[in-house]
Amino acid sequence: MQTCYWQLQEHKEAEQAYAEAAALIQQGEVVAFPTETVYGLGADGLNGEAVTKIFLAKGRPNDNPLILHIADLKDIEPLTTGLNANARALAKAFWPGPLTLVVNKSALVPQEVSAGLPTVAVRFPANRYAQDFIKACGCPIAAPSANLSGRPSPTNAQDVLEDMQGKIAGILDGGSCAIGVESTIVDTTEAVPTILRPGGITYEMLTEVLGFVEIDKGLLDDKNFKPKAPGMKYRHYAPKASMYLLEDEATKALPAWTAKALAQGLRVGVLCSETAAKALPRSQNLLLSVWHSKEELAAELFYLLRDFDRTCPAVILAEGVSEEGLGLALMNRMRKAAGYQEVVAENGCYRLKNGAQLPAFLD
Ligand code: AMP
Ligand code: MG
Repeated sequence: MQTCYWQLQEHKEAEQAYAEAAALIQQGEVVAFPTETVYGLGADGLNGEAVTKIFLAKGRPNDNPLILHIADLKDIEPLTTGLNANARALAKAFWPGPLTLVVNKSALVPQEVSAGLPTVAVRFPANRYAQDFIKACGCPIAAPSANLSGRPSPTNAQDVLEDMQGKIAGILDGGSCAIGVESTIVDTTEAVPTILRPGGITYEMLTEVLGFVEIDKGLLDDKNFKPKAPGMKYRHYAPKASMYLLEDEATKALPAWTAKALAQGLRVGVLCSETAAKALPRSQNLLLSVWHSKEELAAELFYLLRDFDRTCPAVILAEGVSEEGLGLALMNRMRKAAGYQEVVAENGCYRLKNGAQLPAFLD
């Protein structure tokens, strides 16, 4: 299949691009589009057959539901049997923006979107290109992230092309995504609203509006709980190289571990703050990705993980961050990327939290 490409930022006739993309959506095809979080892989959210094509293009398990994207507050009404006070308060406070609300679904929502659940996830994105595209389509746009299943989410059109060229009908290029991690998902259907996936709207921001918010136990380390957002149980974001996430006190080991790995002739990818980078040894074999703030790390994390697949280090060492604010979303994505190879310090010794052996390069 030929994949159409529209550059929106320099496109003098953006209206024409939206009209062409919307025509493809109305024909039941799949078009990727930018949002402020990550790029989405969109299809007509009320057309089950079109939605099935998203799952095929991504290689996504069909028990993993999609998010319906709207471009006007009132457009959520036909998709749900009703919004409670919590859902209304969150929509009022954070829409348009990087927040997805799980609400009880109406009969209008196809099974393919909700993967058989009685609920549906809905978001009103803030990105102008996303809004214009959705409005041109005239229907809710079902979309997951525009990556092949398991790969880091794409935050620019080139990364979408890498995964989707030839597999989908078109790509709208709106430049880099400002936030860079996927939306926060909040289940509003229970008495206590629950964060199913941390993202750009933080726990602290949600608590300020609602007073009390729970974090789904499936997101925490406890293996006895299954995540309530089906997608959160899958391995995700993983770069090809083995990645270790150094947490809390263990972040102090970063310079020594980097030196040991380099001494063994390994190419070492390091993802760390500007402060931590100053203490690292210099080497041609060091592939260094430095960030200056949590916001910057969020905006660049998936791009940097994909970049490691291009530069091919033998091992990746990443500095953990505190879980305040955006940190909760960042640690969630980095833990998944590292396949839960989390390094912690205990009584002056280092160990992997999952009980596995420390890597051989440390011997
Ligand atoms: P993606 O944007 O690719 O991360 O995919 C959408 C995410 O939303 C996945 O993690 C889904 O499991 C989650 N999701 C979608 N619909 C629901 C729902 N009704 N209840 C809980 N989680 C959902
Ligand atoms: Mg995804």
